[in-house]
Amino acid sequence: MSRLAVDLGGTWLRYELTGENEACGKIPSDSTGIGEFISLMVKNYGDIDAIAISFAGQVHDGVIISSPNIHVDEPEIEAFAMAKFGIPLRIENDLNCAALAESVYWNEKFTAAIYSGTGLGCGIVEDGEIVHGWRSLAGEIGHVPYKKAPFRCGCGKDNCYELYASGSGIEKWMKHKGCTGTPDLSRLRQDAKCSDIAKMFDEALVRAAATVVTLFNPKVLVFGGGVILKNPDVVENVKNSIEEYALAVSCEDLRIEPSHMENASLEGAKLLLDTI
Ligand SMILES: [Zn+2]
Repeated sequence: MSRLAVDLGGTWLRYELTGENEACGKIPSDSTGIGEFISLMVKNYGDIDAIAISFAGQVHDGVIISSPNIHVDEPEIEAFAMAKFGIPLRIENDLNCAALAESVYWNEKFTAAIYSGTGLGCGIVEDGEIVHGWRSLAGEIGHVPYKKAPFRCGCGKDNCYELYASGSGIEKWMKHKGCTGTPDLSRLRQDAKCSDIAKMFDEALVRAAATVVTLFNPKVLVFGGGVILKNPDVVENVKNSIEEYALAVSCEDLRIEPSHMENASLEGAKLLLDTI
């Protein structure tokens, strides 16, 4: 018998099969549907006794309810895996999976993880349990209103934190201001015409972090995602200035750390396998 963990992101689908059969790899997310991928894995590897999926979109009770960046062939994926193959499956939002893995890594009672990649997201874990909200939409810091921008977010609004403190936000500002080259924060800081994009990123990130700290009172706040991993200095900036914005008592004994994990979402999916 084998167990399958999957991280389905906007660009890559990564997987790891452990147990009797072992395999791992990554394929472009747009090259398959999740239902099609599971069918192929069952066909290729036979006995799979549990599947866990980290998914870059909104998920509730085993159903994909919103997927802005990924084509979904089987939204009711949990029911699909059980009806077609008799395999129990658990699926969670990717930030929730990342936060779960971070909470095990940092070993604290209450963990918040803020990830800035294409989007800006947050996952919360208390005593090893993901804080879901009633429809599993808790912690969507990227879409909390911040400042009006001259373009719109993927969610339809024009004032989200995500428009300032994410990779897609940086690219939108570069296009708006006519900045060329790679959307890299350290490069933008050296460019007189475009350096304010990096400054806006820093300010939005620390305010978003202060909002999370004030609302949820985490013991450890972990920063990850592609933009943070390429620019670890932004975590130092948050450490130095969060007290200007967050409730003072919430900052007492607060740990602020950069993620040490390469793929926390996949690690979180592997942890979900233990709950099936
Ligand atoms: Zn938004």
